Amino acid sequence: MDQLIKKCENLAFDLNFTRAKQWKSEADGRVLVGYMPIYFPREIVHSMNGLAVGILGGGDKKQIIRGDAYYQSYICNMPRGIIELVLDGHFDGFEGFLFPSICDVIRNLSGMFRVLGKGTFVKYMDFPQNFQNHIGGEFYKTEMMEIVEHISKINGLEFSPERLNDSIRVYNKNRVLTNTVYGLRKAAPWKITAADMYAIIRAGYVIPVEEHNAILEEVIRLLNEAEGEPMDKIRVLVIGAFCEQPPLALIRTIEQAGCYIVEDDFLLGSKWIQGEVDEGTDDPIGAIVDAYLHRSTFSSTVYDVDDPKEFRMLKLYEESEADGVIFAAPSFCDPALLDHPILQSACDNNDIRYISFLFSENTGQFKVIKEQAGTFSDSIKLWDGEMAGI
Ligand code: SF4
Repeated sequence: MDQLIKKCENLAFDLNFTRAKQWKSEADGRVLVGYMPIYFPREIVHSMNGLAVGILGGGDKKQIIRGDAYYQSYICNMPRGIIELVLDGHFDGFEGFLFPSICDVIRNLSGMFRVLGKGTFVKYMDFPQNFQNHIGGEFYKTEMMEIVEHISKINGLEFSPERLNDSIRVYNKNRVLTNTVYGLRKAAPWKITAADMYAIIRAGYVIPVEEHNAILEEVIRLLNEAEGEPMDKIRVLVIGAFCEQPPLALIRTIEQAGCYIVEDDFLLGSKWIQGEVDEGTDDPIGAIVDAYLHRSTFSSTVYDVDDPKEFRMLKLYEESEADGVIFAAPSFCDPALLDHPILQSACDNNDIRYISFLFSENTGQFKVIKEQAGTFSDSIKLWDGEMAGI
């Protein structure tokens, strides 16, 4: 397991995207398309002989020098890191870039890619906020077909429903395996740390899905064999890190402070579709649309008037048998921070204990967070134990 985790860590944090570029060089007609958080239906690119590569910023591994000049100071860190990666040529060899419509910062980033002349195409992709198939669904289909046309112009491949069905199959397998790994960790979080699991899932953002499926199968086999010793830690949900990613050391810090992270929204795109996309239909694009409209997880970036996120968070809390919630959001992240009062008042109304802090992808000091999470953990253990018996 240690070797596998090390391999995944190297892949996940390789800011040169070596494996993706190598994959492209192995055959003619292959295309690399980078996509920003949170979610993008990677099946579409896969079916067009492409690899959709998740771009999550430079984290704490890229010093920002010129990226600051492109943005005002009061925004999150991730886009500055991405600009730094662009300027240093990390995305050379990528043909396309997709920017899902999650916030103004990402929209502006798509404009900067255009200005800098990156790739053959740059698309700011609107996702439907109307969840009726004949309105939002039709709109979403048009958005996806536009990407197909962009790739087709590059490699000459025509869209094929059969190939898209094959791609849906292989990504469904990835969804099932990912959920299995999360499920195993939820059931026995002492078998693998949240940070190690994070690296394993994140590796899937930058390598071919078939290779990631093989890794996940091996992880599941090893987890089923592992035993480990449960420790005296509380079980927590971590909410708010759906886009800019916390440094790995921050995830470790939370666990070292006495919290098992049993559910989180790190890398939310990898588990965006709840369940599977229908396979083998005559209209595979329609199947992807249907999954998005009716089986998406909750997120700050989705207008969810008919299915409010606070209730979905409470359900997740209950299913995870959690003891508390940690709200951890990137500094200056409007979508996350606008949601927090709603989610926190749901916690207040349901006697759920929580703490809250902000981070940035290159945060380097964890002492305060460790003390906060440690105190949170201790107080819950004390309250649920001795204090509850008084
Ligand atoms: S971290 Fe928040 S503000 Fe920054 S790009 Fe992501 S969603 Fe937008």
